[in-house]
This record gives sequence, structure tokens and C-alpha cells, in this order.
Amino acid sequence: MSDKPVKPVLVIHGGAGAITREESTPEKIRERREALLASLKAGYAVLKQGGSALDAVEQAVLSMEDCPLFNCGRGACLTSEGTIEHDASIMDGRTRAAGALSGSRRVRNPISAARAIMERTPHIHLTGDGVELFAREQGLALAPEWYFYTPERLEALRRIQAAKGQPFVLSEKDRHGTVGAVARDADGNLAAATSTGGYANKLPGRVGDSAHIGAGTFADNATVAASGTGHGETFMRVVMGHRLSDLVELTGQSLDEAATAVINDIGRFGATGGLIAVDARGGAVMKFNSPGMYRGIAEDDTFKVAIFGDEEVS
Ligand code: ASP
Repeated sequence: MSDKPVKPVLVIHGGAGAITREESTPEKIRERREALLASLKAGYAVLKQGGSALDAVEQAVLSMEDCPLFNCGRGACLTSEGTIEHDASIMDGRTRAAGALSGSRRVRNPISAARAIMERTPHIHLTGDGVELFAREQGLALAPEWYFYTPERLEALRRIQAAKGQPFVLSEKDRHGTVGAVARDADGNLAAATSTGGYANKLPGRVGDSAHIGAGTFADNATVAASGTGHGETFMRVVMGHRLSDLVELTGQSLDEAATAVINDIGRFGATGGLIAVDARGGAVMKFNSPGMYRGIAEDDTFKVAIFGDEEVS
């Protein structure tokens, strides 16, 4: 790696899936673009002030957790029992320190709790009631369950359950909206963060890739920082983030080539999804094999977003 200073960059996703123009209204597209821009601005402001990649990814994800349009924090998908179960994880490329949580029901910003687990416990992953207990002890903001519910998610659950009449049905259309962020700061440090409600109509207790270090989230200064979105079971089988890191480290592939190979792996298992990643040398990628992925990049003080597959970020 050269000693040349690297320029800071932040890349975000707001979920990959069956996102098509036919199903979108100009109003919805505008709202989403604005929400992506708000996230980019929140995260990039940190980098601009010389802050760390870790702070930047947390701020970018926080912004989307507070926005009801995404499948995380407020506005997360509901389980088959109509409950909220958040998954989230964060990783610091400087040290490979990591924090994660699953089945969290009351923590207002799961990504901040994941970071607190990383920094204030000897553990990496807390689940279920343990998350709330920890969050209370640490003085992290909690919210009543109704805070997380939106009419759209309730309606999606009702529609899926009415259509199939089965307890567990995956719907491509109703599962996108997981969020993630990856960043490289002015010191060349990398970080990654991911946050989600999982799938609409998932079984209570189901944990996806977004809570799994190495699968949904990974960061190592020596290789890459990555965050995924899509069919979580497949991302776990492929071990997306770590696989990407290994390909870059062991095969000498560029970030772009390695990311394409990993998305091809996801496709080989018959699944769809996407990933965002940065490396320490200046690379940044947004790859997906689904019709669309909410995505954006901030670098050189410019902010660019895109939604559909055939669209350039602008
Ligand atoms: N990967 C997420 C999960 O499996 C869902 C998504 O990204 O759409 O929980």
C-alpha cells in the first residue's frame, strides 16, 4: 500500500431488492433520494471534520434508522407475530473490534447499541432481552414498541399473510430496506455498519446476516470494509464480508473484481442482494444482482445517490 494520503469516502445502501420504476411514484423516489442524501450528509460531515470512519458509519446508519422509509430502526419489517426484532452490527477496521445484536425490540438505535457492545463489553453479540438490559444499564435511548411500527409495514404483513396463509413466506418485494454504511477516513481507517428488521413475516427468533460479523458486516484496514443486503441466509452461507476480504487479500483481485465474484456467488445459490465496500487504496463499490438497490456515495464534497439497476449514481 502506498503512503499517499487517501481521500475520505462514505458509501451507503438502503437495501436491495425488487425495486422497479413501475412500482414507484415520483414522490416516493424523491423521498427516498432525500433520505439517502440525508444519511450521506450525516456521515460525511464526520469525515469532513477529520472524524473516524467508525463515527461516520454510525451516523450514516443512525440517520436511516430514524427514517421510517427503511427496514431498520423505526419502520422495520415485522415478524409473523407482528413484533419488531432488529438485527445490527458494526466493525472497526483498525482493530477488527466488532459489536452486534439480534432480536432487539426496544432499543431506539440498534447501531449505537451494537457499537456500545463492541466498546463497553468483553462480548461481540448480545441477543433478545439481554440487549434491552444492557441498553438500559448504559443509558441508551429506548422506545416503546409502537414507535417502530409504520402503517406500511403492518399492511405488508397483512398482505403477505392473507395471500399465503402460511407462517413463513419470504417476499422479495417486502423485504428490501436494510441499511448499511462503509467508510474510509483521512487516516485510511475503514469501518462498516449494517442495521435491519430482517424480513417481513420472518419467524420470531430468526437472525439474519446483518447481525453476523463476517457475513453482513466486515472491516479490516488491511483489506476491505463491507456491508450487505439481500437474502440473509445466503449471505451467511457465502460469508459475504469475509469472503470479499479474502479474495482481495489472497488472490490479488481488485475490489471491483472481488465484489463481482462475491455477488456471483450469491447468485449461484439462487439468491439476490447487494453489497457496498471500500478498501484502503481508494476503491469503492456498490454491486447487486437485484433489480435495484438504494445506494449512495459521498466523496470530494459531492453526494450521489441512485435507486434502480440501470441508473448511474448522480
Ligand atoms: N439481509 C437482511 C436479512 O436477511 C434482509 C435484507 O437485506 O433485505 O435480514
